[in-house]
Amino acid sequence: MAEKLQAIRGMNDLLADQLPFWQQVESAARELFADYGYREMRVPVVEHAQLFQRSIGEHTDIVEREMYSFEDRGGDRLSLRPEATAGLVRAAIEHGLLHNQRQRLWTSGPMFRHERPQQGRYRQFHQIDCEAFGYPGPDIDAEVIQLSARLWRKLGIRDLSLSVNSLGTPDARRRYRAVLVEYFSARRAELDADSRRRLEGNPLRILDSKNPAMRALVDGAPRLVDHLDDESRRHFDRFLDLLAGTGIAAEVDPRLVRGLDYYTRTVFEWRTTALGAQDAVCSGGRYDGLVELLGGEPTPAIGWALGIERVVGLMQAAGIAAAEAAPAIYLVMSGERAERAGLALAERLRDALPGAGVLANMEGGSFKAQMKRADKSGAAYAVIVGDDEAARGVAAVKSLRTGAAQQEWSWDELPGRLAALVPAVGVSGNNDGR
Ligand code: ATP
Ligand code: MG
Repeated sequence: MAEKLQAIRGMNDLLADQLPFWQQVESAARELFADYGYREMRVPVVEHAQLFQRSIGEHTDIVEREMYSFEDRGGDRLSLRPEATAGLVRAAIEHGLLHNQRQRLWTSGPMFRHERPQQGRYRQFHQIDCEAFGYPGPDIDAEVIQLSARLWRKLGIRDLSLSVNSLGTPDARRRYRAVLVEYFSARRAELDADSRRRLEGNPLRILDSKNPAMRALVDGAPRLVDHLDDESRRHFDRFLDLLAGTGIAAEVDPRLVRGLDYYTRTVFEWRTTALGAQDAVCSGGRYDGLVELLGGEPTPAIGWALGIERVVGLMQAAGIAAAEAAPAIYLVMSGERAERAGLALAERLRDALPGAGVLANMEGGSFKAQMKRADKSGAAYAVIVGDDEAARGVAAVKSLRTGAAQQEWSWDELPGRLAALVPAVGVSGNNDGR
């Protein structure tokens, strides 16, 4: 036998059993985006490496050590996208979508980061991404959070907490940065190796340290919220006020600085304690300077990204069921004549019951074996055609889940009869408890 090949570490196969959870998250998000007026857009998985270096920032973990970058056959330096915002902004500029326009957009798909794989942290992972361009005020900051909060409700996810902070303008941040460098430099001996490295390149990221030993030092550091410029202060206060008006509870976390350089003013993160070390489920913020940085007209923007693996992990941890839709009907065909008539009959049933699921038996088998398969399929009804039924143009209908008496109907009345028996199928799941 030939040697078996394996998937790349940190890149997962999603088997059919897991897909109902993914589909539930994706269809819920798709519905909500439509409800809020966000339009879907899709961009390539591969971009010029430069796009991410410029937007995410040279001194970030992502660009320094997590990107999958390579030279293609033409000698171009390319990267697999580690996140979606940079590509969306590049595309929006390229297609003139931002010129005197406002855009509410969303996208989703695989992202790639060369991290150490562990529960909730993978090298290929998947995000759903929400972005709004051209809205400078704090109201949209509250709206994008409202949308995410509704998504959790719709999926039945509880126990997420929302942390918010403001990073101010780049100027305010530069001033704060000097204060921070002074604080940490005076305590250099207490810094871990990572933080010492960040002290030169990106001192704000020290606040984001995941090392518990750094906690006390970080807690004692000067706070960015105390160094905000007046306009950012007003923006933040109004944002908090608007958010409170929506009834969504939030905690101001002065340590929340986010791992990407491009954020300005409002930043936020939905967190959980249910996924071990991986606490961020959905993160985002305002990035008013990014469009200009990538060559567009100055355009305010805000967005968030959620990790689908983590959202699915939360649903599973909370015991939220994502039922795989069972077929409504299993068609049992016993005999050559029955098989020939049955395939055509199955099509008529699918015409009459779109979306309900009509599973036709394949590869023959005894009547008993077929009834076993019918039961195992989860179908509500077995529609049974033997050679005798085929000769008479009828089918027997047996309920597989109730004791209801078996019925016999002609092929002409069968679609109508079954349509009346099978409840209308709602395709998307909804665990909204209200
Ligand atoms: P973390 O602090 O966990 O590394 P992050 O700040 O790097 O997260 P973002 O870049 O903001 O994450 O990405 C948004 C979301 O994508 C995160 O909140 C998380 O749910 C998810 N995510 C990020 N990196 C991974 C990964 N390697 N595997 C799975 N999901 C991820
Ligand atoms: Mg990260």
